[in-house]
Amino acid sequence: MSNKAVAAIEVIGEAIIFNKDFLTSLDTAIGDSDHGINMARGFEAVSGKLRTLPEETDIGTVLKTVAMTLISTVGGAAGPLYGTAFLRASAVAAGKQEVDASLAAAALAAAIQGIRERGKATTGEKTMLDALEPALAAFNEGLAAGKPVLECLDLAVAAAEKGVEYTKTIVATKGRASYLGERSLGHQDPGATSATIILKTLADYCRQQQMGVM
Ligand code: ADP
Ligand code: MG
Repeated sequence: MSNKAVAAIEVIGEAIIFNKDFLTSLDTAIGDSDHGINMARGFEAVSGKLRTLPEETDIGTVLKTVAMTLISTVGGAAGPLYGTAFLRASAVAAGKQEVDASLAAAALAAAIQGIRERGKATTGEKTMLDALEPALAAFNEGLAAGKPVLECLDLAVAAAEKGVEYTKTIVATKGRASYLGERSLGHQDPGATSATIILKTLADYCRQQQMGVM
């Protein structure tokens, strides 16, 4: 039900706001010290917007509201990228009141494709894609192996966390961190980290709900 979608986004926003300083410190190392500030500002605005939606709002509309709010409030690279991701996911979830595993996988795939296109990026460039792409692959592998959806979400989170570790070992070739060249080595990517926080919070929320994905 859409009010569960709103609740899920609310807890994701709380996690981002909780990690504001951490995300900003990561961006201080290889960017311009604003990733946590940008994301927290965006999710604070999202929270306000979601409260204005009617109870029965479908998940697509909830995600579209998130997208439009992030695009208009986050700024920097992350605003348009996360905005595009949520917008593409919203199209997949249009009219839905429930999300099952295959819809979740399709929404994440669409979100990733949106980031790839908008950011003209691929994996191995030290961006949020280095967390999200392995997460989707692990989620799909788990589903294909017949594992329960909560276990698949855990696999996705573990893959995203591994992806964040991987970003420490590669040079950034997209975004501000790319200006640093080799000096970006050894630092984890802020966007990969925020993407992992989002996935982990969603997985934790779903476990709490104990009823599928949303
Ligand atoms: P800005 O870099 O404009 O200050 P943020 O600090 O909010 O924006 O976000 C930086 C994050 O955005 C990076 O850590 C990276 O994950 C992501 N990012 C930047 N450029 C791209 C891109 N072209 N494609 C995908 N992700 C990108
Ligand atoms: Mg920045």
